[in-house]
Amino acid sequence: MQWDPVLGDRIESARTEIHRRLLRMLNERLMPAVYPAATPLAIRRWDVPGEPVAVGEALLAPYTKAGVGDRWGPAWGTTWFELTGIVPAEWAGKLMEGVVDLGFTGISPGFTVEGLVYAADGTPIKGLHPSNRWFPVEADATDVRVFVEAAANPTFEALVPTVAGDVSTASSEPIYVLGQARLALVDPDVRQLIGDFEVLGQLAAQLPVGDPRSAQLWAGISDALDILSPADVSGTAAASREVLATLLAKPANASAHQISAVGHAHIDSAWLWPLRETVRKVARTCSSATQLMNGYPELIFAMSQAQQFAWIEEQHPAVFARVRERIEAGQFVPAGGMWVEADSNMPGGEAMVRQFLHGKRYFIEKFGIDNAEVWLPDSFGFSAALPQLIALSGSRYFLTQKISWNKINRFPHHTFLWEGLDGTRIFTHFPPVATYNSDLSGAELALASRQFADQARANHSLVPFGWGDGGGGPTREMLERARRTADLEGSAQVRIEPPAGFFARAEADYADPPVWWGELYLELHRGTYTSHARIKQGNRRSEHLLREAELWATTATVRAGAAYPYAALDRLWKTVLLHQFHDILPGSSIAWVNREARATYEALAVELNQLIAGSLQVIQGADPDASDEGSMMIFNATPYARAGVPALGAAPPRPGRPAASAEQVTDGYVLSNGFVRARIDAAGLITSLIDSATEREAIAPGGCGNLLQIHPDVPNDWDAWDVDSFYRATRTDLCGADSTELVELDGGVVGVRTMRRHGRSSFEQLVTLAPESKVLELQLDADWQERETFLKASFDFDVRAEVSSSETQFGHVKRPTHRNTSWDAAKFEICAHRFIHIAEPGYGVALVNDSTYGHDVTRDMRPDGATTTTVRLSLLRAPLWPDPEADQGRHRLRYAVVPGADILDAVREGYAINLPLRTVAGDVPVTPLITVDSPDVVVEAVKLAEDRSGDVVVRLYAASGGRARTTVRAGFAARSVHSVDLLERPLDIGQTWADATTASVRLGPFQIVSLRYTR
Ligand SMILES: [Zn+2]
Repeated sequence: MQWDPVLGDRIESARTEIHRRLLRMLNERLMPAVYPAATPLAIRRWDVPGEPVAVGEALLAPYTKAGVGDRWGPAWGTTWFELTGIVPAEWAGKLMEGVVDLGFTGISPGFTVEGLVYAADGTPIKGLHPSNRWFPVEADATDVRVFVEAAANPTFEALVPTVAGDVSTASSEPIYVLGQARLALVDPDVRQLIGDFEVLGQLAAQLPVGDPRSAQLWAGISDALDILSPADVSGTAAASREVLATLLAKPANASAHQISAVGHAHIDSAWLWPLRETVRKVARTCSSATQLMNGYPELIFAMSQAQQFAWIEEQHPAVFARVRERIEAGQFVPAGGMWVEADSNMPGGEAMVRQFLHGKRYFIEKFGIDNAEVWLPDSFGFSAALPQLIALSGSRYFLTQKISWNKINRFPHHTFLWEGLDGTRIFTHFPPVATYNSDLSGAELALASRQFADQARANHSLVPFGWGDGGGGPTREMLERARRTADLEGSAQVRIEPPAGFFARAEADYADPPVWWGELYLELHRGTYTSHARIKQGNRRSEHLLREAELWATTATVRAGAAYPYAALDRLWKTVLLHQFHDILPGSSIAWVNREARATYEALAVELNQLIAGSLQVIQGADPDASDEGSMMIFNATPYARAGVPALGAAPPRPGRPAASAEQVTDGYVLSNGFVRARIDAAGLITSLIDSATEREAIAPGGCGNLLQIHPDVPNDWDAWDVDSFYRATRTDLCGADSTELVELDGGVVGVRTMRRHGRSSFEQLVTLAPESKVLELQLDADWQERETFLKASFDFDVRAEVSSSETQFGHVKRPTHRNTSWDAAKFEICAHRFIHIAEPGYGVALVNDSTYGHDVTRDMRPDGATTTTVRLSLLRAPLWPDPEADQGRHRLRYAVVPGADILDAVREGYAINLPLRTVAGDVPVTPLITVDSPDVVVEAVKLAEDRSGDVVVRLYAASGGRARTTVRAGFAARSVHSVDLLERPLDIGQTWADATTASVRLGPFQIVSLRYTR
């Protein structure tokens, strides 16, 4: 349809018809005309037997003749293609390129076959992806010879359970067909005309009917299409461009939204592919991004996750050298300052510190870059501890876009100050474009402009652009769009710049940004607190073993001159940090990733226990045989004295602790020890729990504790990620027991063992009470054979709690137990670390655990008019996608009830259940390296400084949420002590100490203080 001056655009169909005409011309005439001539390349192939090999090995391999139409690539296989050809003489000096279709299936880039093109000498050139199928050929080349390392990464259909998620179960049938391999002549005018048409058409489609610019754009596009001859696109492209040039020349409106476009590729460090494939995805994307900078020097590409830089440094040195060159030129920007883009709900406090410490140290040491922005576009909610950690790492800004995925409430800001637990405020931005994979299309630019919630007082937003996950990052089409929208009437104004440029501009632009207090809870993906219990357990166990390993190694070094295991600890920490990536720890990866993660955690535990044992042996005088026959020493790595053993020290066992008592009564059992009295009914459920200090009943009348409950668990969208609120509507209580019996265990521990079954699963529950203990310990051994089922352990407490307090990094976060508002109701599943605590004035109860993160808390009015607060631990799930075998098999989960607990009791018992006392042969009591004299001040870490100076670093925090003051005593000769940041650099906190061995330290609510001692 032609532009009709009579009809004008008052008739919507006129716009629609021009748009349809444009799209047909683009797809059917202009796109094919980009390559006016082509010649096939000769193909030979080598199928790698097994896992990928280095390029040097691949170049020497025995290649065989191959051709277009060949099937190749069993899932996860690698095939190398050698492509050769002669440049036709008449093309000499002209623009040409190679074009390869590895079997691209039209699936979103990054989730299918990919390739990396190498020169004949093994130098990487660029990646091949569904939306990026070319490789450069020099204009003066007379022949072509390249190699393509093609990866047959399978495509996963969402929610379809599949065995393809592990190389050990995937089919060996080829899944791809080689589409084409050609050398093609390029018509640059046609390519530019496509860029013009695309930008103007996409812009026109976004402008409202009645907007003069919209009418002018459609008319101009129509005119340009009239000039373009379908029979001679090449010959008429230049003239068509002239018509569009006047439209493109009109400058942006004075109030146009300002977009900082940052080239990016969000590469999940593991997800629907194993870790080893991520290394190759990074190599391909870095090759493509740096290659693209040749033709588009304005491209700025930001890559986060120090781990990904470290991978290419180790495994793709040629790619790393190119990256380093572009970093020095300011085009390639290390972003984020964390080791990986970690989950932020579950990592423990010290682990989160190390994410920043190792991430930022890597960028500083390798590139001299200390960046200021934290980049977590995709993690599943953001802990209230992050603002303080960001500030203490020396950063100032935070970016995510994930909260745009909220299913219930729309977040009210895109730019704001985010205030954390301790009061630290961080300038924060959520890109209103609501994606981290923008293609800079007109629709996305308009969306960013339109959705920007703070547009009344600010006018800058950030758009990360480029295909992620191995899609290859930015493309030249995106950069052509950026060039045309730099100053274009009707469009947002696009400026390519690094994140730091955006943040400086946005901060200057927004004088008094609003404040959001507390966590950034994601109203989605709540199942990730629970999916894959063994991975959760591996993380929790590793974090605590690392604490012990550092504490005892430091003690062994300072007290006995042992060599500190710097290299081992560095490597072990980085392994744990990698596995906190936002699709590994959340349990949302394929079976291959989960299998490897479980094995890695097992190996970590073995190595860390060896390190710990070695240190303890040194501390005990190196030669255990020299000590008195049979004498033992108990080591306590928790920050609180326990069983007569000082915090962070060791003491001999105390003799003669009276055993706890157990008796069978008519309807069950009674366990007691002078501190706690518990009644267990004949079905193994806790029906009464009274602590001697308060003499108050913790269990609600008519209720019980440790009741296993089963729910069907089939979320609407994302199996491993989500638990949807409707799961609550259907519930089965496992009240029946196959058997219950009294048990007596070592050390005077008594208990009740209950066996139950449900479906194909069986459960052994052990309730135990130890001598002098104030907690009732619970252990569940489950043989879990259910699918799509949620297992919870429920406790009805006679407490009227308005909020629950859940441990997060260096503190706890309070969440309502009611559903007053949609924001409250959305938090129907919440994350807690080692404890969750509920209280009313004067009385509280805590549940502590050794590896559970998911919880829920509800409350009900009883017939007697009082309130029952029910706290449940989310123990196991069994999602089918992407790992159909998730959570199947045996699990041991430990948790405990602490009756009459205040918040510091919860803190103490949370450490205790995760850090069992260690009994070793020896007779040398160990006075702690560090002591504090306030129960509110917790020693989170004792270690030697990363710079290997031998300085001792101690991290403290105020755990109750109030102000605290403590005297910190060093149990070693210290010359000086001063405050440092998370990177162990001097930090002024307004306190200095003349006496290094006795420092009086003040802490604000939830404040983290790191002290560095020079010996
Ligand atoms: Zn991600």
